[in-house]
Amino acid sequence: MSSKFYSEALLYRDYAVEQRRWMHMHPEKSHCEIETTAHIRTELDKLNVPYKAVGKNITIGEIRGNGEGPIIALRADIDALEISEKNDVSYKSVNPGLMHACGHDAHAAALLTAARVLLSHRNEFSGTVRLIFQPAEEHGEGALQVVQTGLLNDVEAFFGIHVRAMMPVGKIALKSGPVMGGANSLKIKLTGSSGHGGRPHQAIDTIAAGVEIVQGLQQIVSRELDPVDPAVISVCQFHAGTRDNIIAGEASISGTVRVLHERTRKYIEEAVPRIVRNIASAHRVSAETECEFATSILENSPVLQPYVERAAAAVLSSEAIIESTPELGTEDFSVYGKLAPAYFAFVGAGGTSPHHSDTFNIDEESIVISAALHTSFVFEYLAKE
Ligand SMILES: [Zn+2]
Ligand SMILES: [Zn+2]
Repeated sequence: MSSKFYSEALLYRDYAVEQRRWMHMHPEKSHCEIETTAHIRTELDKLNVPYKAVGKNITIGEIRGNGEGPIIALRADIDALEISEKNDVSYKSVNPGLMHACGHDAHAAALLTAARVLLSHRNEFSGTVRLIFQPAEEHGEGALQVVQTGLLNDVEAFFGIHVRAMMPVGKIALKSGPVMGGANSLKIKLTGSSGHGGRPHQAIDTIAAGVEIVQGLQQIVSRELDPVDPAVISVCQFHAGTRDNIIAGEASISGTVRVLHERTRKYIEEAVPRIVRNIASAHRVSAETECEFATSILENSPVLQPYVERAAAAVLSSEAIIESTPELGTEDFSVYGKLAPAYFAFVGAGGTSPHHSDTFNIDEESIVISAALHTSFVFEYLAKE
């Protein structure tokens, strides 16, 4: 049994690479995955895999096994990023200013490849496998759109994969519980009064108050939260002023909050307005603060952990499995976990540049491994006794 799925997937290595390179050459931004989706639907047609097409960019394929059984879903995201590719490769992006710099090209190719392996073994499992080709992950909105189609309400378990660029090929990182962060979006509007730069006593300066607020917000993480409970408050925009001799009467500050636990989110949601309000009032500035929920924490189901562990060991070996380190990036796969147990695995892709960089690339072996892992998970869950 060991490595069976890997050697099966290896039979389709050329196909996997060809699919990935096509996607890589034709990146499309979130919500605009039209050509990519048309390509995927054509491939599913060629494979005789029936699918539900919702709008121009949501596709849910279906492979039925032999006999009744649970319905499970495998997910690939398909969107790219607004980055100009610097890699000098034959399959370089032909769409100016756009690049598959997160590996979603590999995800889509791996799921198509998994479909081929599953089709050749459909008599050996019972139940149904749905193949989700999801748009707009990078905007954090695609998974919700897919769920809102209602086409996944009968799914019993969800499985997804992300390639991890800086992890060696041949390693699969797993962890149950929280693995990626939840986010809140932070918006602060400060109002004072403008005046002459040389006569500060006639004005109320929002920049002076604002810089203290930016620093004060950091104290929530460093002085109020448990130091072993991960959280980030990043102010990423601070806009104020119109010229160098006018004191800014208005300022806007915005950023992102990241947490790994809901209790921490709740704490920060209360602490942020308190810090802003009190610092602002100390400087006679009025403040409006929003710290709204943006994305869910990605929690891997402990119920699925043993299935995924066995699936990964069957693809490579138990030595290939490492414990995933939680991180505070976000991933909208978390939304599927609201419907049914869901699990997100990380596959080493042996690259040298980070995700979202203009030199991002992967070792294509990771696509074959991902395809095998999808297949192996299906067999762990649906194989006939
Ligand atoms: Zn990304
Ligand atoms: Zn991604």
